[in-house]
Amino acid sequence: MNILITEAEIGERIGQLGRQIEADYQGRPLTIVAILTGSLIVLADLIRKIQLPLRVALLQASSYKGATTSAGALIINESFAPDVAGRDVLLLDDILDTGHTLNTLVHRMADRGALSVKTAVLLRKKGRQEIAIEPDYCGFEIPDAFVVGYGLDYDDDYRHLPYVAVLPQLQGSGVDSDETGHYVRRTPQQ
Ligand code: 5GP
Ligand code: MG
Repeated sequence: MNILITEAEIGERIGQLGRQIEADYQGRPLTIVAILTGSLIVLADLIRKIQLPLRVALLQASSYKGATTSAGALIINESFAPDVAGRDVLLLDDILDTGHTLNTLVHRMADRGALSVKTAVLLRKKGRQEIAIEPDYCGFEIPDAFVVGYGLDYDDDYRHLPYVAVLPQLQGSGVDSDETGHYVRRTPQQ
């Protein structure tokens, strides 16, 4: 496993982000809305670094299906939809890739009566954004590679790894981009 960001580096950065959020949301009705499933781990670590009254809500959104690294249509599970009316919403996702997920959900939260909507991501992939959305809080900028660990999966595996890594079998010729820029897995070359 090719480790990109170590457990210690993540821990230190989450602490910094927590203090920043704490300073910015003093006296505000903060609800952190985490986007399942990838942001579960960062959510658990981040909220324990914010010494403020806050609420936690969950939203399920997915665009990657099964054993593929290419994004399909965005599916939002509305049965989890939190009541955010009159709340300052901080949307939390594991990674900003094309930007479609966060952009869609920012509008969804505003439509549901949120007082304000900001965004936080653990990772931001360089050179992949299709929607101009600037995260208000960002842990790390990473190169254009498919990463796993610390909540991020490949076919629902690897979420439990305490670090962020690039899957060895997806490095090099095993993974490529299609004409839309999405990752597609090629059959390994002989
Ligand atoms: P976007 O809508 O910004 O293109 O994609 C965001 C979602 O795509 C993330 O919530 C995450 O689930 C998934 N994603 C994007 N890049 C990666 C990656 O490198 N690894 C994993 N495991 N998921 C990714
Ligand atoms: Mg996700």
